[in-house]
Amino acid sequence: MRWPKLRELKEALTAVFSPRFTTRFPDVPCKVPERYRGKPEFDLDECIGCGACVNVCPAPNCLTTHDDLEADKPVRRITCDASACIFCGNCQQYCTTEKGIKLSNQWDLATMDKKENITTHEFELQLCEKCGAVIGTKKHLIWLYEKLGPLAYTNPSLLLAKSEQLTTQPPESSPAKEPGKPPKTRDFMKILCPKCKCELNISL
Ligand code: SF4
Ligand code: SF4
Repeated sequence: MRWPKLRELKEALTAVFSPRFTTRFPDVPCKVPERYRGKPEFDLDECIGCGACVNVCPAPNCLTTHDDLEADKPVRRITCDASACIFCGNCQQYCTTEKGIKLSNQWDLATMDKKENITTHEFELQLCEKCGAVIGTKKHLIWLYEKLGPLAYTNPSLLLAKSEQLTTQPPESSPAKEPGKPPKTRDFMKILCPKCKCELNISL
């Protein structure tokens, strides 16, 4: 029999009497570092549904957006599939409000059903009251109004979006009532897309 060398014997004895090196997971929950990048999570109080995070997400099918114009109230759906996330942090870094999405410390995403990792959030859309084109989400317009402060008074669309009064207009003045027709002076106090607003300004 070959006897162990003294160094190996010392290492073995040290290991036996040292504290455990590995964690006790899953008996004890695994603690991750403070800046760990885990599952992206939306903060719906801060997210305005602008979709900027979708544009900067490099992972295919991770963050996606769809504007549903067929619903009773047109909505934008932003979907996050955490199974496809590569935890690059782009969404958090480039979020318009800087607080709309954050990489949480939730790392345990193993599941038998991938749908459990998919979350979808809806945001009401604002359509152009002249041509029916999508302008953005109502939350986004209101956020812009609040961000601009007094400067927002140069933009009637933002004022109207903020008031929310004219966003519940009766059907006879529905957004797509006069698509294709050039905007007239009476359209000035309507929520308009950039194209209609430009045409209106030229015609004034
Ligand atoms: S961390 Fe990167 S891959 Fe994951 S959702 Fe954000 S942008 Fe997409
Ligand atoms: S960029 Fe920020 S505010 Fe815009 S949709 Fe993404 S999380 Fe929400």
